[in-house]
Amino acid sequence: MIRLTSYLNDAWHQGQGPTRPLVDPSTGQTLAETTTAGLDIKAALTHARTVGGPALRALSFADRGALLKAMSRALHKHREALIDVSMANNGATRGDAKFDVDGATGTLAWYASLGRRLGDAHFLLDGDAERLSQGARFVGQHVRLPRPGVAVHINAFNFPAWGTFEKIAVSILAGVPVLTKPATATALVAWQMARIVLEECDLPPGSLSFLAGPAQDLLAHLGPQDLLAFTGSAQTGSKLRAAAMAAPGSVRVNVEADSLNAAVLGPDVAPGDDIWAAFLRNVVKDLVQKTGQKCTAVRRVLVPAHHLDDVVAALKEELAQVVVGDPRAPGVTMGPVATAAQLRDARAGIRRLSDQAQVVLGGTDRPDSTALKGVTAGKGFFIAPTLLVARNARAATQVHRHEVFGPCATVLPYAGATDGSTGNTATEAAEIVALGQGSLVSTVYTNDRDWLGDFLLQAGPWNGRVMAISKKVADQATPPGMVLPSCVHGGPGRAGGGEELGGLRGLDFYTNRVAVQGDRGLLKKILGEA
Ligand code: NAP
Repeated sequence: MIRLTSYLNDAWHQGQGPTRPLVDPSTGQTLAETTTAGLDIKAALTHARTVGGPALRALSFADRGALLKAMSRALHKHREALIDVSMANNGATRGDAKFDVDGATGTLAWYASLGRRLGDAHFLLDGDAERLSQGARFVGQHVRLPRPGVAVHINAFNFPAWGTFEKIAVSILAGVPVLTKPATATALVAWQMARIVLEECDLPPGSLSFLAGPAQDLLAHLGPQDLLAFTGSAQTGSKLRAAAMAAPGSVRVNVEADSLNAAVLGPDVAPGDDIWAAFLRNVVKDLVQKTGQKCTAVRRVLVPAHHLDDVVAALKEELAQVVVGDPRAPGVTMGPVATAAQLRDARAGIRRLSDQAQVVLGGTDRPDSTALKGVTAGKGFFIAPTLLVARNARAATQVHRHEVFGPCATVLPYAGATDGSTGNTATEAAEIVALGQGSLVSTVYTNDRDWLGDFLLQAGPWNGRVMAISKKVADQATPPGMVLPSCVHGGPGRAGGGEELGGLRGLDFYTNRVAVQGDRGLLKKILGEA
């Protein structure tokens, strides 16, 4: 049995006392165990602040970028082994596992090249120097300085590789040491990755710590220059935000939480069009990829009322092709959900939605044994792709409130819906999107420029990202669920109000903007360009 260890104070430590199991969700077999009880987390944070922070701040952006490049290379070298671990501990298909592991190495490499471009600088200038008096000498220059604290990263169970290393990439490039904590249930791949980079990458002492399991008293030791970047459920996010606000000096917090993402089919799109096919392909991918356990997966599918039945029929046909089972069995295209608790929650969520929507495919029952490939009867946490239809979009309040974190989405009509709504259909679609109270991403499929403009300006502020698929980009657009390092990831409202990535924008969280006022000549010498 593998026993996970935590890397604190530049050494690997084992926790004490009762452990928690890490399970293979396809078989129910325990793969590893871990505990973090008894570990000196306070000392680890102090070490990161006092040893790791100064070491990273002494490096230029190019040097920090080189560390990220080394991490990306080291992890890529172990890619096949990491994919196997992800398939075992996450129930991921090979494609899902690659999505997670390659997402990690790709984001590290992207931020490595940003570091190279930023070159010898150690911090960022923010805009130009502004004259502050009648003479030219007295100026104000804004700079962004790395916070002299430690960044605590708390991650969700669904992206143990990407979630861990996309945050590490930005933090290290900014010059801030990290203590990262994966979700306990799926920590195995993140632990293996941490071991690889700590053994092979010659990271500065104190720059990376790894807590392999429950947070214990972690948040009680955060101080005024520390940061908390959290990804997970809205419920835990609120709790941690409150705890961080209550800490002395109010710790800066970024929350990436639940999201009721939408796909919106424009009124101009007809069955058989290029973008009709792209729409179906993306919706199906979002339901099936990672068994729907993706924060960016579509949960609400908005279609013009006159195409509702066509869309439902086409989605049912596509989803009927999905082969559910143990991802290691040949032909399987969708694995189990990651844990028994996740299965319980997904089933309870479908029941909740079905009070206001009709289940037209799948549902809460375990798929029939004969339909599950490579699975021992009664074993594993399996659920079928599930599609619901709510014929009155606004009245289906649960659909806009409750995220079922599994292979499940609800189709909703706009325009001519049974609630009798009329008028501007772009406004109507945008209003329905907004009922989700803030999402990570919405995707709109249309060739109608005016309609898109109307929709975009109204739905935009309710989303962190809006993807507009028209015929000219339908075959080259990345899938809507894919987060890219160059674009902001996060969303307003219930999505947590956070922002990650987005190229240089990602560094904002880890740095303090300081207005330095003084003699232009002197500031130029100290800061560079003032
Ligand atoms: P979760 O139950 O909220 O747990 C998330 C993390 O918080 C885990 O590492 C968990 O640790 C930790 N945690 C829980 N209670 C804590 C406490 N009192 N103090 C410190 N840490 C604590 O969420 P999840 O089930 O892992 O993830 C699924 C959710 O994440 C979904 O709702 C999904 O939408 C959301 N998500 C959002 C994004 C995004 O970028 N917006 C990305 C992925 C997932 P333990 O595992 O040790 O309990």
